[in-house]
This record gives sequence, structure tokens and C-alpha cells, in this order.
Amino acid sequence: MPSQKRNFPGKFNDAMTKLSACFPAVAEWVRGLDNSQAVLAQWEHELSDFTRQELLDAIELIRAGHADRPEAYERDYWPLFIQRAAEKVRVQAQAKADYGRFTHYRVKCQLCRDIGSVEIWSVATMEIARKRFLGLTDDPMLFRTEFIQCLCESGRGELPYRSGKKGGYVMKPVPRYRPDLYTLASDGEDSLLTWASSYQPKRPNG
Ligand SMILES: [Zn+2]
Repeated sequence: MPSQKRNFPGKFNDAMTKLSACFPAVAEWVRGLDNSQAVLAQWEHELSDFTRQELLDAIELIRAGHADRPEAYERDYWPLFIQRAAEKVRVQAQAKADYGRFTHYRVKCQLCRDIGSVEIWSVATMEIARKRFLGLTDDPMLFRTEFIQCLCESGRGELPYRSGKKGGYVMKPVPRYRPDLYTLASDGEDSLLTWASSYQPKRPNG
């Protein structure tokens, strides 16, 4: 779009080429202005903070309808609309980079992802599932879950509980996950029902 009279930076030329391809009427309008070189110089200045790729992506965002495009009467503000879209592109790229950092954090425990607790099918749910398989109850199946401490080092053996009168706290042992006693909610309902159907009333303590 810019004529040969003036040397604009390559990234601006590339952005204007993209803009011409996507919005030919805009290109034609600028070219037809008496002061088109001055207008383009002003646009170049307003867009100078962004990289080539950010500008191209911004124009693509506008073309695809994912960022606002100026109405006909707002065409003087094209640089502002491109700026806004380019800022959106930048924020999205940053978010993507942050997400990448997060997922590259090395998790020690695959079970709880180092949160320290795991979601299991609640004890009441397991009890109903087991009794239904034994024909001992017609109670409707529950699919409730609860959290207990993981067996890894992130899971804690004790947690503070409010101790009655004085409002203080005491440390009390809390249930910790054991694969032979509990089924993980993440394993799904089928896993719970499989566990219930093959339940053997044989507990280490009982
Ligand atoms: Zn864990």
C-alpha cells in the first residue's frame, strides 16, 4: 500500500500488505488521500511498538472477526483497532507461555499432582455399591466423592482440628489414601462398581 516515495520499516510494509489483502477498500482509500504518505507515517508511528508477527496476527484476528474492526466512519482509527488487536495477540501469547511454564513444572506425585489430597468415592458410596451387589439394599446408587490425604510426602498424616472450648486447634490423624481400601473418583464409576462386585470382606485390621 505505501508508495515508493518513503521507506517504511519492513514490518510495517508487511502489515500494510496484509491489510490490503484483507481489506482492499481501506488500502484504496488511503492510497487516494492527498496526504497518504503523512497518514501512513502516522500509522507506522502508532504501530511501532509491535513486532511484525504481532501486527500480522492482529490483522488476521480482525479479519476473522475475533477482534473489533472499525466501522466505515471510524476508518481514521484503523491503527487504534490494530493496536487493540495486537495487544490481544500479545496477551494471548504471554498466557500461552505461562501455561507452558506451568505444565513443565515437574510433578513428583502423579496421584495427587503434589496437591496433597486425592478424590475418592466416598465411604458411604462404596458401602452402598457393595451392599447392592450383595443384594442387601435397594438404596439408589450414590456417586459422591470426598477428599482424603495422599500417601505421598505432600499428603499429611495429621491436620489441625478446632478443639472445643478454648477455640484452639489440636492435631489429629486424618485418613490417607490406600489403593486396597479406596477407589479413586478419577478412575470412574465403572471402577467403583468393579471394586464393589469383587469386594472381599478381608481387612488388614479386621
Ligand atoms: Zn501425592
